[in-house]
Amino acid sequence: LSLPETEKTGNRVTVFVRVRPISKKEKEAGSRCCVRIVNPRDVYLTEFVNTNDYLRLKRIRGRHFTFDACFPDSATQQEVYSTSTSELVEGVLQGRNGTVFCYGATGAGKTYTMLGTVESPGVMVLAIKDLFRKIKTRSCDGNHAVHLSYLEVYNETVRDLISPGRSLVLREDKQVMTLLQQGNRNRTTEPTRANETSSRSHAVLQVVVEYQVRDAAMNIINSVGKLSLVDLAGSERALATDQRTLRSLEGANINRSLLALSCCINALVDGKKHIPYRNSKLTQLLKDSLGGTCSTVMIANISPSNLSSGETQNTLHWADRAK
Ligand code: ADP
Ligand code: MG
Repeated sequence: LSLPETEKTGNRVTVFVRVRPISKKEKEAGSRCCVRIVNPRDVYLTEFVNTNDYLRLKRIRGRHFTFDACFPDSATQQEVYSTSTSELVEGVLQGRNGTVFCYGATGAGKTYTMLGTVESPGVMVLAIKDLFRKIKTRSCDGNHAVHLSYLEVYNETVRDLISPGRSLVLREDKQVMTLLQQGNRNRTTEPTRANETSSRSHAVLQVVVEYQVRDAAMNIINSVGKLSLVDLAGSERALATDQRTLRSLEGANINRSLLALSCCINALVDGKKHIPYRNSKLTQLLKDSLGGTCSTVMIANISPSNLSSGETQNTLHWADRAK
């Protein structure tokens, strides 16, 4: 995939959409598919209205959205990783920072995309495997140190999910899935729904690669690159719009970090000088990994079912604004 030239003066955020397969529950509820990927970059969202007979949905209108790429429900985890993140892993090994977010409503497939399952590992696991594979092919591979931290931002509090108080030195990629799964089990659960991770918690995996290289004058210099992979909180409760500011929404049941992230991304793509990183814990964590020379990737996760078309529309609008 070749990425288009941007005419904007701001930072470019690469935006992808991933449609998950329809679920059994959605099928049983008689839902219709309202999302169609018409070509590798365009997705078409059909809006239905109920007629008197609720089984007969009437198609009222639709809208096209264009992104860097759209992944259909048949896309594999490897395809999603290769298209969205592998370039950033390469960048980290050149000493650059990069961030990948999964954005979308609860149930849209964010955790599947980021963490995945043992059989189908997601972006976090594939990125670390790729990183170690790439390091091994380097002549100076012994010089590399890989540090990992897995944090949760919940209610504007940052919690360590795997190794409280220190970042972990990773020696190999074998145990990464187990480690991250354990970490995910430590994510805050919704009080009303035991065993279910909160839709209001952000999970942030940060991988720092450090190594020494010699410059042209044979001086030893330290190269550091950081990759941040973020499984964002469910977007359903934070409808960030341009008119409403963070402050006016304070006290409402909103996710401050998610809103602050929207503000930062909008400021970045609009080429604003001031990026309001300090407004939330999540944006503080990512302040050296957004904007500037960093690469930012957004994967918008959506369900194909018309039962979620409202959420899907919000997600696509948000993602469209992030371009
Ligand atoms: P979220 O993290 O956005 O709340 P999940 O990632 O937990 O959503 O996905 C909801 C359900 O859908 C899970 O059971 C997950 O395994 C399944 N799922 C999501 N995306 C896919 C996909 N691309 N392929 C297969 N199953 C998926
Ligand atoms: Mg999740």
